[in-house]
This record gives sequence, C-alpha cells and structure tokens, in this order.
Amino acid sequence: MVRIGHGADALNRAVPDATAAASADAAWPGLPPGLAGRLAKLDIRRPADLLLHLPLRYEDETRLTPIATAREGDTVQVEAEVVSSEVSLRPRRQLVARLRDQSGPLVARWLNFYPSLQKQLAPGARLRLFGEVRSGFFGDEMVHPRLRRIEPGEPLPEALTPVYPTTAGLAQSALRKLIGRELDRLRDDELLPVGVREVLGLPAFAEALAMLHRPPPDCDAEALAAGDHPAWRRIKFEELLVQQISLRRAYNARRAKRAPALAARQELTAALGARLPFALTGAQRRAVAEIAADLAAPHPMQRLLQGDVGSGKTIVAALAMLQAVENGYQAALMAPTEILAGQHYAKLRAWLEPLGIEIAWLAGSRTKRERAAEMARLAAGELPLAVGTHALIEDPVALPRLALAVVDEQHRFGVRQRLALREKAAGGASPHMLMMSATPIPRTLAMTHYADLDVSVLDELPPGRTPVVTKLVADGRRDEVIARIRDACAGGRQAYWVCPLVEESETLQLKAAEETFATLASALAGLRVGLVHGRLKPAEKSATMVAFAAGELDVLVATTVIEVGVDVPNASLMVIEHAERFGLAQLHQLRGRVGRGRTESVCILLYARPLSETARARLKVIYEHADGFVIAREDLHIRGPGEFVGARQSGVPLLRHANLETDGDLIEPARVLAEHLLSEAPATAERLVERWLGGREGLLRA
Ligand code: ADP
Ligand code: MG
Repeated sequence: MVRIGHGADALNRAVPDATAAASADAAWPGLPPGLAGRLAKLDIRRPADLLLHLPLRYEDETRLTPIATAREGDTVQVEAEVVSSEVSLRPRRQLVARLRDQSGPLVARWLNFYPSLQKQLAPGARLRLFGEVRSGFFGDEMVHPRLRRIEPGEPLPEALTPVYPTTAGLAQSALRKLIGRELDRLRDDELLPVGVREVLGLPAFAEALAMLHRPPPDCDAEALAAGDHPAWRRIKFEELLVQQISLRRAYNARRAKRAPALAARQELTAALGARLPFALTGAQRRAVAEIAADLAAPHPMQRLLQGDVGSGKTIVAALAMLQAVENGYQAALMAPTEILAGQHYAKLRAWLEPLGIEIAWLAGSRTKRERAAEMARLAAGELPLAVGTHALIEDPVALPRLALAVVDEQHRFGVRQRLALREKAAGGASPHMLMMSATPIPRTLAMTHYADLDVSVLDELPPGRTPVVTKLVADGRRDEVIARIRDACAGGRQAYWVCPLVEESETLQLKAAEETFATLASALAGLRVGLVHGRLKPAEKSATMVAFAAGELDVLVATTVIEVGVDVPNASLMVIEHAERFGLAQLHQLRGRVGRGRTESVCILLYARPLSETARARLKVIYEHADGFVIAREDLHIRGPGEFVGARQSGVPLLRHANLETDGDLIEPARVLAEHLLSEAPATAERLVERWLGGREGLLRA
C-alpha cells in the first residue's frame, strides 16, 4: 500500500455546514441531489476543484498475487473463486466465505454485511479481493476485504488506484468517476512560464494531474508515496505560488490605504526610557526601531511582535503607544482576559502617570456608570490611552483619534474582533495595528499562513532570569510534591498549582478545580491558599490575582485562566497536575509563569499512566527544551501545521498539499515568481488565483 505523508492537512479541510449543503445543490446543477453538498464538505465547490482534490494514497490493483505467496501483513489483490459462503454465529455473527485460486485457499470474513454481499459470494463466482492478509483461526484470511465480481479474463486496471480524502455518503468510486470525468475534459491549461518549469524540473499542469490521479504502473510509486515526485512538486509549487500572489496583493492593498504618519518625536518615548529601572534588551531595541519606522509611514502598519513569555513585549507596546500620543493621537491596548488587561493597566499606569498621561480602563467588571465619564472623554479625544478587554470593542466606546491598536495574545481573538478594534477610528481611517503573541509561530508558518504581516521577534530574555528546572514526577509521588510546596512557602516564596484539564465539560473542570483546592487547602494547613477558575466573575478573579501578586496568598490553585500574561516574580514553584493532558504550547505558557525573579524556579509536571504516544512525546519535548521556538517546531512535528494554535483562527485557508517543512525550498522561488507575474503578467496571476481559490481570496485579507 502506498501512503502519502500529508493526511493531517486533509483532515482539516472539511467543516460540515447544513445550510451550505442545501444551497450547494443549486450552485452546481447537473449533480444528483445532495452530492454537491457532500462535495462542498470537501471544499469542492465547482468542477475545477475536483482536479485539485488529490489522492491521500494509492492502492496497487494492477497486479494479482497468488494466495499462497502472499505473506502475513501484506496488502494484496487476489483473484479467486468462491467455494462456499455462510453466516456463522460463533464466536459471533459473521459472514465467512471460503475461496481458492490455483495456489491455495483463503478465508474472507465480514462482521457487518448487507444481504447483497451474500449474493455476490455465491459458490462459483469469480472475485477480485483487495485487503491485508492475516493468519487467522481458519488459515490465511482477509477481514473486510474490498471485493469486485468479475468475468473470467477481465483485464486488470493499468494505473494505481487513487484513494481520496472523502466524507460520509460519498464513495471512493463516485469520487473517482467525477474526478476522472474532469480529467478527461482537461486540455492544456498551463500557467507557469516554461523557463521556471525547466529550472525547477516541474512537469506541465495537465501532465502532473494525470500522474497524480492516474499513475501508470511503471511510475515511481515511492516518490508518489513520499510526496516528492515531480508531479507533486509541480502542484505544491503552484499552491505556494498562489499563496504568495495573494499575500502580495493583500500587501499592495494595505499600502494603498492611508494611516496617520506618526513621526518618532522622541519626546514621551525618551522620557519613559529615562525613567525605566532597566535597560532594553537588544531584541527590544530592534523591535522598537522597526515599529517606530512603520508608525512614521503614511499607510497602516500590520506587525506581529512575537516573543517568548517574559521577553518583555509590554514595554515595546508602551513605547509604540507613546509615539501615537506624542503626535496627538490615541492608542488602545486590548487583552483577552480581565486578569491580563488588569496587569497591563497597572503596569502602564505606573510607567505613564508620572509623565502626566491618563489611561482609560475598560473592562467588564466596571459598571456603566464608572465607565461613562471615561468613555465621554475618550469620545472627545481628551483621553489618549485606553486599556481593556473585549469591552473596548463594544458599541458605545468611541476612539475617534485612534492611530494605533495593540492586541495582546492576538491568537486568542477572532479575526472579527481584531477588525472591530481597528474600526473604532473615526471616519473609516485605518489605524496602525500591533499584534503580540507569546505563542511562538515558526517563521515559515507566520510568513505563509498569516495574512500580509510583518514580524518582529524578541529572541532574547531580559538579563537576570534563572532558567526554570523542569521535573517529571509520577502521580503517585504527590506527597513529596506537597512537601516541596511547604518548603518553598516557608522560604517566603509562592507557588502555583494548575488543575487538571477537563476538556469535555466546563462543569467537570470546575468540579476538579474545587476538589483540588479543598484537598490542597487541608494538606497545606497554615498556608494561605486561593482559587481562580473560569467561572468566577471577572472582579473576583482579579481580586484573587491581586492578592496573590501582593503576597497575601501563598499558593494559587488555578485552571488554565492563568495561562496568559500573569507576572508574579516571587512565584518560583509551579505544579501542573495531569500534565499529559495539556498541549505543548499550553505547557510552555504555563511554565513561563515562573522563573521571572532571581531565585531558581521549578516546574513539576505530574503525570498519570498510561501515557499515550503523543503525550509521552510532548512531555519529552517540554522536559528537554526551554526555547519557545524549538518547542513550537516540535509541536508542529507532533501535530501537523493544521492543528497549530492560532493558525486555525487566523481565517486563512491552510495549505492543502505543500508542507512547509519538507517543501520549504519552493517558497523562495514561488515568492520571486509571484512578484514577477504580478508586475509582468497580471492576467496569469489572476487565473492562478482563480484556479486555486475561486472566490475565497478575500479570507486572506483579514
Ligand atoms: P511578556 O513578553 O511575556 O508580555 P512582560 O512584558 O510582561 O513579558 O515582561 C516580563 C517582565 O520583565 C516584566 O516584569 C517587565 O517589566 C520586565 N522587563 C521587560 N523588559 C525588561 C528588560 N529589558 N530588563 C529587565 N526586565 C524587563
Ligand atoms: Mg505579556
């Protein structure tokens, strides 16, 4: 059997949608009712999409294997005659057929079957069966083989049989027929310059599709399986090319928009710099300079500030906001949780109030009345800065002179929410956007999956941090762990205890958190233990966090609400219960809560057996690595890019065929050709986009 290593992408394609299915029939006349809807689930919306629906793997039905020579574990095709068949009831109800060819006997079994299958298995019938040979109770057998009744002498297929990603109610054979029909109709549809194809050794479009959909028996099956056959490379290159064209067009559209040009006056920014108790790291200075240059341009910045937890993104954002303020404009900072927004608000106040700059605080926990006065002053353009949660993008909030919108933990917001903040500026002006993320996104992924975006990276931690020591501890040794917490707190330190993740239900999650809290509170009698979880009111959450930050609590029991942004340098111990249930990005974020002060910090990962293979792989990665970028890369290995945090929410269609890890060498030539086509052959660029994206290019613009 031939497999292609990009199954994960195929799994990411379809999002079922009943109403879409209903209208799909109307959009694609000439198909039996319901079929268009099922095809739409595979993202096939028009005949041309069928051609680009490529096989997951191939099966070799071009050859027959004599039964006696098939070895256990081989997936083979045999041609045999039915000797007998019967429904047997023991050990369970099943259909058992005895067959033979000239070389020997074979048993085929089905545990689920329709009467029609029994009819096909009439004694004397000639069949071709395809399946894996096992050695079973009755001798050599196949369980649930695929089968076809044939006439004696019927020729074998001449091509490998493609196996396509499909969906419920859509048989491989139906899909094959539809695709085959489209392939027969395909005439020359070449859109790549001959020179480029020659340099990269790529076959023509029609030739590549014929190879992939109907590989001849003498083809290089291994290269087809591995996905590096020239036919695959051709398709992957074209896919990357289309993506580059789209990104480039989005970039050009942005450059054509106008935004306030904010000169780097170095008035307020220099004043803040002079007051800071620390010097910026080299990476921070680089990011500040990149952002300052963007802000001075008359078109909107769209920049991602990417930096590992604790790398100091907040001060970079503060300096950018001051550049807006010193030009007489407003800036806003939005964070996904009230805890995080509250920390930003407190920090910015400490930095900026001495400079005489006031900040509006917009969060769900404040009453309308508390907010009203500030909102009026924001609307009048009198208050220069606003910090808050989603409350910032609610209807009554107006920021008429908004020139810079900062979104922290940007992947936690949807595209629409980010747009809503941008649209707060008066008269449809386009403010500059700065997005921040501690979830590291590998550079290639950022380049190709996020809409037109510039990236600044903080790849250096502020000095004076001691690396966190990570320990893997089996669940049975929990008492030792509790003793460690006592020791740490006796020494004046604080600790986090992260409750097990219960993904199935928020109610169960809450119950688990409360139980953990009760157990720990009694095991740690004499220590002050607090609890935060997602069901608390924002004000209650904040109060507990503030108490922990102020040292009024020794131990904070928490669900993953503490995942983002929390900054309590005196906390030096973190315990994560059932660490095997967490994703890598989450573990890394959680661990980043400690190691923020000068004492050595420890992160204990409690795990319970049995460990799945993935869980084991994840724990190994988090144990061995501290660098968020390395961890993100490993995460990509374990999960595949479609699963990567943030990529899904970005609203950008993922690559279906190209793989950024293995096909990275094609990205640069694709980028060069994209630019060339856009300036020299825009009609060809347009046809390429049309071929791959149809009307879906708009998604890339968000
Ligand atoms: P993150 O990138 O995770 O948002 P923060 O902005 O919260 O990180 O910064 C983490 C801590 O490091 C804060 O207490 C911040 O004041 C401090 N910090 C930031 N930059 C520096 C620096 N250059 N030197 C020392 N401490 C810094
Ligand atoms: Mg932060």
